[in-house]
Amino acid sequence: MWCSRLLSYPLSQGQCSSYRARTALAQLNRVLEAELESIRGAGTWKSERVITSKQGPRIHVEGSRGEILNFCANNYLGLSSHPEVIRSGLEALEKFGAGLSSVRFICGTQNIHKNLEEKISRFHQREDAILYASCFDANTGIFEALLTPEDAVLSDELNHASIIDGIRLCKANKYRYKHMDMQDLEAKLLDTQKHRLRLVATDGAFSMDGDIAPLKEICSLAQKYQALVFIDECHATGFLGPNGRGTDELLGVMDQVDIVNSTLGKALGGAAGGYTTGPKALINLLRQRSRPYLFSNSLPPAVVGCASKALDLLMESNAITQSMVAKTKRFRSKMAAAGFSILGNDHPICPVMLGEARLASVMADDMLERGIYVIGFSYPVVPKGKARIRVQISAVHSEDDIDRCVEAFTEVGRKHGALP
Ligand code: PLP
Repeated sequence: MWCSRLLSYPLSQGQCSSYRARTALAQLNRVLEAELESIRGAGTWKSERVITSKQGPRIHVEGSRGEILNFCANNYLGLSSHPEVIRSGLEALEKFGAGLSSVRFICGTQNIHKNLEEKISRFHQREDAILYASCFDANTGIFEALLTPEDAVLSDELNHASIIDGIRLCKANKYRYKHMDMQDLEAKLLDTQKHRLRLVATDGAFSMDGDIAPLKEICSLAQKYQALVFIDECHATGFLGPNGRGTDELLGVMDQVDIVNSTLGKALGGAAGGYTTGPKALINLLRQRSRPYLFSNSLPPAVVGCASKALDLLMESNAITQSMVAKTKRFRSKMAAAGFSILGNDHPICPVMLGEARLASVMADDMLERGIYVIGFSYPVVPKGKARIRVQISAVHSEDDIDRCVEAFTEVGRKHGALP
């Protein structure tokens, strides 16, 4: 028997299979430990701080005393703990239960799912919408369902990981254009004229630099070469544009962008969930073919209730959206006056550029000691020499919160030589 040959003493069949299982497990552990060590060695280990309160502008964090001002959530509009959003989630939970124990097409569609899809398409002024468990799912589900080997997809090189994964899954011809480089995009559009459909895919706003895709130029190139335009609006929905409709509203091209994917897990209540909104025929096709939709559970009613109320609040008034714009301006201008360099154009993602990885990391630690929670990003998440602390502004930060954050940055920046 296999293990008896190795061990030089006989084992029963039962003992032999258990020995084999333990050997396989020991081997797995060795492989995993080596892999984990290489992550630590590369300095890319991600540790997680534990929050012991609701998400919001002020939180409690395990290991830190008192209230901490939170400047690193995607809670752009502060709706994650808005009383009306929470109440709506609770009502949906009570009326519609904890969950559907089913995918949508078997017995997982409730009227609240249909109502939310209708609300999303009205919000974005598109024909129809389809819900997913996350925008990651929406992004991994769309390209494979829509594009075939006859088609081509042209993707910005800095697009989100979920777009990259979604494109990997599809059989279309794949082209990657340089970040926001319209000459390169045009060259690739010229190259792809032989294909049946051409789809340009871009983040509306890019989360590392807070920069905004040049949608006007992308749409006019798409028109010139008869291509479709897809945007991921996770860092735009709810707060970019005069009414928070997103990058396409901000840049005046709502009628030229064909497909929008976005999340319910950031500005729109922050629970979870994602969606695609666009032409009715596309949404019908996704309901038939999109694998993360077909083979994954329906969104839980409480999540649907929260997102639905978040959209109501935004459709009633643009006051929350506008308050975030004002606060972003306050932070950016005060930081610039203090001598810091901030990337991006008027987006609430404000990358404070520091250069050295160590500087970003020690400054973020010192900020936490002063009661401000921010995160340092360095290589390989961002290019070498471009380490930064990414600050995210929310509509529910008070002006005082913003001023405290700027003061802490100034103090810590002087201490570490990032400011004169
Ligand atoms: N797209 C972008 C640009 C994102 O930043 C994220 C989340 O970080 C996603 C997609 C995935 O969104 P979700 O959390 O809904 O899966």
